[in-house]
Amino acid sequence: MSPIPHDAEWYRTEYLKSAHWRWLRALRLEFAHHRCEQCGWSHDADSLKAGLQRQRGPLDVHHLVYRELYDVTLADLRVLCRRCHDRKHEWLEWRRLFQRQEDRRCARKLARLLEKKRDARRETRRG
Ligand SMILES: [Zn+2]
Ligand SMILES: [Zn+2]
Repeated sequence: MSPIPHDAEWYRTEYLKSAHWRWLRALRLEFAHHRCEQCGWSHDADSLKAGLQRQRGPLDVHHLVYRELYDVTLADLRVLCRRCHDRKHEWLEWRRLFQRQEDRRCARKLARLLEKKRDARRETRRG
């Protein structure tokens, strides 16, 4: 399943600026009371005083799952501050790399297994 049904360029320049996304994003931010759902940070006076504004950045709305872009529910989205969002994507990237490694390992295992089976078949035919 492709993560985005359109290309990344279209997604950035068109979709993220569309009325649909702006509406969905605003609704989701409202739903989360304008707080990061990972660390609880918000743009309130306390965090401004604590100097966290620059560190945590603006609040982003992250897609947990990509179905059809126009068929997204509020539960498919997470409100994250920039710091948590960056970490999330670092983790996703790491997991993707790990998954690929695992896939390669599994493919090698499967190849060895099939080879063994083939050898066994040859043995029985000969025997
Ligand atoms: Zn956060
Ligand atoms: Zn994201």
